[in-house]
Amino acid sequence: MNSELTAYITLVSTSGVLNMYLFINVFLNRHKYTSIGKVFSLYTFLITVYCFSSAFGLMSTNIEQIKLWTIIQYTAMPLSAPVGLLFIMNYLGFELTRKKWIALLTIPLISLFMVATNDFHHLHYRVYEIDPLLGAPYVHQEMGVWYVIHGIYTFASMFFAFVLVLTRWKETERVYRPQLISLLFGQFVPMATAFIYLIGLTPPGLDPVPIVLWLTSILYIWSISSSRMFTLMPIAKEAIFHSINDGVIVLDEAKQIIEFNHACKNMFPRLNKKMFGLPFHQIWNDLSGGQVPFSIETAASREVNHGDHIYQVRTTPLQQSGNTKGLLIIFTDITELKRLQIKLQHQADYDELTQIYNRRAFFQISKQMLLEAKKKVQPLSFILMDIDYFKKVNDTYGHDAGDQLLRHVVKVCNTLVNEDMLFARYGGEEFVFALKGSKGKIQAEELRQLLASQPLVIDGTKIYVTVSMGIAAAELDEEETLNQLLQKADKALYKAKREGRNTVKEYIHDDL
Ligand code: GH3
Ligand code: MG
Ligand code: MG
Repeated sequence: MNSELTAYITLVSTSGVLNMYLFINVFLNRHKYTSIGKVFSLYTFLITVYCFSSAFGLMSTNIEQIKLWTIIQYTAMPLSAPVGLLFIMNYLGFELTRKKWIALLTIPLISLFMVATNDFHHLHYRVYEIDPLLGAPYVHQEMGVWYVIHGIYTFASMFFAFVLVLTRWKETERVYRPQLISLLFGQFVPMATAFIYLIGLTPPGLDPVPIVLWLTSILYIWSISSSRMFTLMPIAKEAIFHSINDGVIVLDEAKQIIEFNHACKNMFPRLNKKMFGLPFHQIWNDLSGGQVPFSIETAASREVNHGDHIYQVRTTPLQQSGNTKGLLIIFTDITELKRLQIKLQHQADYDELTQIYNRRAFFQISKQMLLEAKKKVQPLSFILMDIDYFKKVNDTYGHDAGDQLLRHVVKVCNTLVNEDMLFARYGGEEFVFALKGSKGKIQAEELRQLLASQPLVIDGTKIYVTVSMGIAAAELDEEETLNQLLQKADKALYKAKREGRNTVKEYIHDDL
């Protein structure tokens, strides 16, 4: 064995030993880490197998041995690149689903099958024999179709992982950069070496990648010990912290600001990192010109207006072994939610066409009015009002004109409605009033006359309208429900209609 070959075997074995160390170390400590520890263990295990089988391959003396070690090498090497990618995805905060595993590991498993059965189809290596000039363990090989697919796939996996890490460079805090450097080199070194190999710049018949893998292992060992790579997983955490829509501010135990996320910066653009270490109440004063409107001592939740926005602010003390270490302030923008809530409430209470209370809201409010009237023994009366011959308006001028007439009636009524009155659309062209006081009849008469005197004008055409009304006064000393009262008003209304319309009738007793 020549000295050059001995040097290669030594380097490949060193890579194997260092990766085995990483694998055993992380695997034994995996319970201290998140799931990332397991993925990393698998990754380094595969590289260990790759390096050692490569080393044994280099010690082989005939083609059978070489082929056997190549097959063993292929149980690990093709898988290591996509597992490396999965490791980096997990590290950067992507969720690893079963689908992602299957999708990424299919081609490597086919590669293993192709190498194991290559003698039958020669799709992976068209030619695979001892190098006629150099002799074992050097191999003369010519790529088959599958070799190209496998090569491109492996290269792409590493490249994609590399780019993925690069995209996070800027947003990663300086203290965690060693981790990124290791991740970048972990991809770049084998990728560059594989590239040089593929364009034929490395010694012939040798796979140079395991020769350089010791370098990446040392970098991983360095970042695990220098920045607690797997215990902190800061990059994923940072990514999550900055990607959430809620604004988050972290205070230390002295209530000084120590961190905020991007969403918070968007909510309070004047917030900046120079404010780190300043008391929160001072910063809040800077930001909003007032006192802190929520508790920064205990867990609490309340709504806070700031500018045009409404925030739900939650404070959560951060505790470590029973002691309060700081405070988390979370701002959730509920402006849109509030706007929607108000809109929905409006839709639930108001009639869309006339924008006065609907029947549902009328029942809700007038029930209270009736209770209060009985309690205070104050008179209350109900008026049902129905437009006369309304159908004719619809039939003569069309449905739109009918709608306009309904709005016109409401507009005229509103000129007389005051705070002692509840006015609502009862349904169709019927309206209802609840009036405090004993002047119901007079007010109804006033309204009837006003309506009769004010026609609706559409394109110069005057449409006169009259209404009929039925009134019922609440019997304050009797057990009378709202429905019973309204039935009485309805009877009075019926009488008004019967007696020729455009009139007001009051309910006196049942045979009115
Ligand atoms: P009366 O004097 O006996 O009250 O006769 P009327 O024609 O007013 O009464 P009727 O109950 O027969 O007709 C009411 C009509 O009101 C029937 C319905 O098509 C119409 N209507 C109900 N709601 C609306 C609405 O929102 N818009 C329009 N344009 N018409 C409506
Ligand atoms: Mg009617
Ligand atoms: Mg009518």
